[in-house]
Amino acid sequence: MNNCQKELPTHIHKPTFTIMKKQYLLPAMALVIFACKEKPKDEPMEESKPLQDEVIVYEEYMREEPTDPEATEFYEPKVPVVTPGVNGTPPSDALVLFDGSNLDGWITSKDSTAAKWHLNKDKSMTVNDKTGDIQTKQNFGDIQLHIEWQSPKEINGEGQHRGNSGIFLDGLYEVQVLDQNDNPTYVNGQVGSIYKQHVPLAMASVPTGEWNVYDIIYHAPKFNEAGGKIKSGTITVLQNGVLIQDHVEIKGTTPYIGWPKNPPHGEGPLMLQDHGDNSRVGYRNIWIREL
Ligand code: MG
Repeated sequence: MNNCQKELPTHIHKPTFTIMKKQYLLPAMALVIFACKEKPKDEPMEESKPLQDEVIVYEEYMREEPTDPEATEFYEPKVPVVTPGVNGTPPSDALVLFDGSNLDGWITSKDSTAAKWHLNKDKSMTVNDKTGDIQTKQNFGDIQLHIEWQSPKEINGEGQHRGNSGIFLDGLYEVQVLDQNDNPTYVNGQVGSIYKQHVPLAMASVPTGEWNVYDIIYHAPKFNEAGGKIKSGTITVLQNGVLIQDHVEIKGTTPYIGWPKNPPHGEGPLMLQDHGDNSRVGYRNIWIREL
């Protein structure tokens, strides 16, 4: 006989049990069943640790509760002062990659010769069909990127062949540029997609022929010495002020055919795509802030 089979609780005596009223009998039985279900005391209780592990605890806030407001205020480190730009002009700490004056900071990706895209009087550049992708001479890691792009006013082609270009972070990960207005295509390759990886949260393009703005936050993936990826990169994109990619995980390269791959790399260039089908996309006002 174990503990659970022994006796009724001490305040319920046998003689009384037989004449017990129904309203007392049921709660008493429930109490006995509950008592019998309890584990014997010598067995350890199951720990709720796995659940506890999921709870975020801020050790610094576990100390004694402050009563003075100054105890929760600090003055270091000093925050750098950045003068913001006006109407898309760069902030004071930005590195300007293209301001319309020349293409000196850019080369043709396939052979490292001078970039052959068209430089326009309105301080923009336009894809020079089939001359190839262009990229910055300089390499970067994590960046905040501001870039403006324009689909050609004259509509030409359908689907992926209408105003297709792309912005390749580290030269590998494409944020799609496409004239999507009244132009359906696969959604993971539409304007604002991380090509074939992440569908954008919204389609926020301006009318064809007007200037779109992408503001992009890019954190590069990290690789160990053996070349294995140990931390995924992330991309956030705002198109014309609308969040369209929210800190999404880069799963690898963004090829037209095949799965994403994860070749190890360090800092890389910013690359702009010549889609090779007379897409004639324009770019202007390109600047970054290194993070
Ligand atoms: Mg593209």
